[in-house]
Order: sequence, then C-alpha cells, then structure tokens
Amino acid sequence: MIKEIGAGLALGLMAGLFIMGFNVYPLLLLVGLFFLLTRVVDIKGSVRQFVPISNSKAKGGISFDDIGGQNSAKRELLEALDFLRIPEKISSLGIRPLKGILLVGPPGTGKTLLAKAAAYYTDSLFLSAAGSEFIEMYAGVGAQRIRQLFKQARSGGKSSNKKSAIIFIDEIDILGARRGSGSNSHLEHEQTLNQLLVEMDGLGVGDETRVLLIGATNRADLLDSALLRPGRFDRIVQVDLPDQEGRLQILRLHTRNKPLAADVQLKNIAKETFGFSGAHLESLANEAAIVALREKKKLLENKHFSEAIDKVIMGEKIDRKPGREEFFRIAIHETGHAIVSECIRSCSVSTITIIPRGKAMGYIRQTPAEDSYISTRSNIEEQIAILLGGAISEEEILGNRSTGATADFQQAIELAKKIVSAGMSSLGIVSTDDLPNGVLHKNLKEILDGQEKRVRDIILKYRGIIENVANYLLEKEKISGACLRNILEKYEQKKQQKVC
Ligand code: ATP
Repeated sequence: MIKEIGAGLALGLMAGLFIMGFNVYPLLLLVGLFFLLTRVVDIKGSVRQFVPISNSKAKGGISFDDIGGQNSAKRELLEALDFLRIPEKISSLGIRPLKGILLVGPPGTGKTLLAKAAAYYTDSLFLSAAGSEFIEMYAGVGAQRIRQLFKQARSGGKSSNKKSAIIFIDEIDILGARRGSGSNSHLEHEQTLNQLLVEMDGLGVGDETRVLLIGATNRADLLDSALLRPGRFDRIVQVDLPDQEGRLQILRLHTRNKPLAADVQLKNIAKETFGFSGAHLESLANEAAIVALREKKKLLENKHFSEAIDKVIMGEKIDRKPGREEFFRIAIHETGHAIVSECIRSCSVSTITIIPRGKAMGYIRQTPAEDSYISTRSNIEEQIAILLGGAISEEEILGNRSTGATADFQQAIELAKKIVSAGMSSLGIVSTDDLPNGVLHKNLKEILDGQEKRVRDIILKYRGIIENVANYLLEKEKISGACLRNILEKYEQKKQQKVC
C-alpha cells in the first residue's frame, strides 16, 4: 500500500515538474532503477508457502483403490512405503531409511495419483510442488524454496499430528537435470539441485516427522546422476501406459458415477483404446457424457463412447467443408484404407468417417486384436499396405492421386525404415546411417513397391464396391466396421452367385 502511494506521489511530482518546464528524464531513469532494485530484493526475499493438500482418510482422499491398473507400480510403492508405516520394524532390521522414490512414466499415467495415494496409505502430510516452481533468475531463490519446502514438511507434520510427510515434486527433471548440461549450467540451477541433495541427505529414520520425497518425471534420462545414486532416489518405479486389463479398470472407475446404457461394453472400449493413458480414458468417459448431454439422453450409449474415442484421438470436429467432388475423393480414399485393412486383418476396422477432425479430413479407426508391443516384418508390412490403400484407391477409381496421401506416405516410409534398422530387410543387420549412397533408398523402394502391388490387387478385386461404399459414406458421414463387413460379405456372395 505504502509503495503504491509512493509511486503515485512520485508520478504526480514528476508530472508537475514536467508541466513547469523541468527536464524530468534523468529523474525518471533514477526512479525506474530504484523500482527494479526493489523488485529484485522482493523476489530474493520472498518465501514461497507450500500449501499441504488434504488427502486424509477422514476427508475421503485418493487411495490405491481409486487407481486403475498400475499393479506393479502399486506393489513396488507399497513395499517402499513401509519405511513410513512401520519404521520400528525397518530400524530393527538395520535397514537404511528410504529417502526418495522416483515415479517414471509418460504423461497422464497416474504418477500424481500414486503420490497422493501414498500419503493416504501412510496417513502423511502431503506437500506438492512442480519442478518449475524452483527455477528463478536470481541465484539462491530456488535453493531457499527447497529449504522452505522441507522445513514446512517437518513443521507441518508436527502441527497436524502426523508422524510422516510426503513431499511430491512433479516434473523433477526441471530442477534435477544433469549439472553442466546446456542451459542448465546456470549457477542458480546448480544451487537449487545442491540444496535438494543436501536436504535428502539430512533425512533420517530418527526424525520426529519422517519425510519421504516422491519425484515424478517423463524423462529420467535427464536427471543428474547424484540424484539417482543409492541413498537418494533409492526406488525407481516405472509407471507405464495401462494394458487392456488396466484400461478396463480405469474405465470402470471413471464411469462409476455415470449411467450406462445396456449396449455399453467397457471391455470392448478397453480393447479399442490401446495406447491411451489414464488421463485419456478419464477424458473419454467425460466426453461420452458430454455427447449424451448434447443429445439430451439420460444414459451414455455405445455410440457416445465411439464419438468420444474419435474426439480424444483426432481432436474436435472442425467446420472445414470441402466441395462435393473433394468429399467424394476423401470417401474413396478412406474406403480404400478400410477395405485393405479388412482384407489383410479381418475384423480390424472399427469406424470409417469423413467428418473432419483436427488435421484429418477423414480417417479409419482400427481395433487391434490384442495389445502388442513388438512387431514382425509382416506386421509392419500390413501397416504399410493399409497406409497405401487410400492413394491407390484414389488412383484406381478416380484416375489420379492427391496430396491427401502425403502423411500416409511419410508414415509408410518411416515403417519401411524400421524394417531395415531392425535387421529385417534383405540387407541383414546394418546401420542405416552407414549404408552407402542409394542403398537405403533402393531397399525402402523394394519394400514399398512390394506392398503397393499387394494393395493394388486388393483394390482391383473390390473395385466394383468401393464407389458404392464411398457414396454410402458420403450420405452417412460415418459407418461402422460391422456395416462395412456386411457390405463386403454381400458383395462376395453376389460375385459367387454370378460365377455359379
Ligand atoms: P503428468 O506426468 O502429466 O504430470 P501424471 O502421470 O501425474 O501426469 P495424473 O496427474 O496422476 O498423471 O493423472 C491425471 C488424471 O488422469 C487423473 O486425475 C485421473 O483422472 C486420470 N488417471 C490417470 N491414471 C489413472 C489411473 N491409473 N487410474 C485412474 N485414473 C487415472
């Protein structure tokens, strides 16, 4: 308040002097410098208060039961948390106290939830901060905040009658990045990291409030080795994308409070959402409810979930409306992808649509038969064939290709490179970087040409039906894989009858 009054008076004085004809510029410069100086002192002197997050049993906080999947992460974490729960037993066996647990995994997989559940399970005070909160321009501020955080954990534990406290630092790679690397060689960064190491070293089993640090990161490879050495982050817990069973559990958790129609099969949705994180699945359940609300339905139906999957994968529908001719081309392109997919991987198409979303003017969504984490050469070749299906369908039906296939080709080339670099091409085991000029290109072309021929044969076989499916797609904008399979089956039967 005093500062504001002072600033007002100074401005008024200067305006007065300026009107009276005085040169106020040197004065203005001095006042500017003064304010800059007070700002620096302010920032350096500021003490950041970290507000404890209530996650107690009494207030219905998040427990391990509220986290779907992640069974191995939960198992490892539970074991490590015994240090907080039964310290007497730990010390009777002469076990060194655990100071830090590092949760490593892709975004949205539940690392924050696990840290909160750890506080719930151990009935600890929970203090949360992000790595970026410790990065300031001024040397010493980050270190001071680290000191403050640990101090608050100890004193907060005492004042709230908790025997233990958990400090959770999300994106710990921001403050714990390797020293001397690139932009992080800054003195401020080193001081902050050193302070964190000092605080971790100071944690002991005999402390009145036992403090455990839980860090979370997507990039453990960036962390300074001093942080990762035994005695600091003793446990590194991998928090991966959920498998099919995990996805089902997460979907069950996030649809607990939503009325589902009888046609909703969460098992099928879990199957269709390979690669989704817990955060994606939470968003999917939420989006499905929003679609149902928009349609003024009282129950969430299967079609609402299908629409929500498209939205989570491809983004919101966009208003781009191409002309009829271009729309027809898009329909021919997508039908080509879908027919090739059905021919080489039976029952693989889940949806074909020409509703533009995100950057795509249309797309097909596939249902993987089961989760898979590695690929054989023939798996990759199948993917390449499906990608080429769009352009070859355009070429065979409309007489030429369009730029709509550019992204498909780029992906197909990347996949072909994968075959070479994994030693699955005719070149054997090679380093793609050391191949002589033109050899890689020749090999990629061989792989792609082989698939182009395979795809052309499929497209020519179904040439008589592609236009019909495309017209139907134009009318409906979106058709299901089951509907496509029905059309293809009838077409095959008709052809058989003609032959007979
Ligand atoms: P980031 O690395 O981006 O910080 P994170 O791994 O910490 O992400 P969380 O913040 O724990 O992810 O999860 C985000 C949201 O996703 C949660 O609030 C929850 O709704 C949902 N979620 C993620 N994983 C799970 C899970 N295993 N079970 C239930 N919900 C989950």
